[in-house]
Amino acid sequence: MNIKPSSACPCCSGKTYGACCRPYHAGAEPPDAESLMRSRYSAFAASEIEYLIRTLHPEHPDAVVPRDALGATLREACRTYKYTGLTILESRSEGEVATVVFRAKVFDKGRDLSFTEASQFERVGGAWRYRSGETLERQGKAP
Ligand SMILES: [Zn+2]
Repeated sequence: MNIKPSSACPCCSGKTYGACCRPYHAGAEPPDAESLMRSRYSAFAASEIEYLIRTLHPEHPDAVVPRDALGATLREACRTYKYTGLTILESRSEGEVATVVFRAKVFDKGRDLSFTEASQFERVGGAWRYRSGETLERQGKAP
């Protein structure tokens, strides 16, 4: 899906996509873990596959998946699901590591697959990366 820069950002920041997550998708590094979390959610909504791969921590379990296979999986997730809203519940960082707890609204053809996750982030060479995620609560079951 192509999101116009003047549209509301999918991460629900209240800003436009052009003033919020788009610069990160275009190559800028998010300044903190919460911005990275938001921009990764937006990347699912915007089908920014390369961004989702680029922002994985080298030790994230998905980082060992061959790039083509991972890209196909992510593309499928972007195409299948609707990403309709994000709420940041908690955000804390200490030095090079950070935790963001969030509620992501995700729908599969009207079926609610929304979930709450605690994500761990770590700074690698000055850039925040998605290290791991723990699902705390899930609405429905994925097929
Ligand atoms: Zn955003």
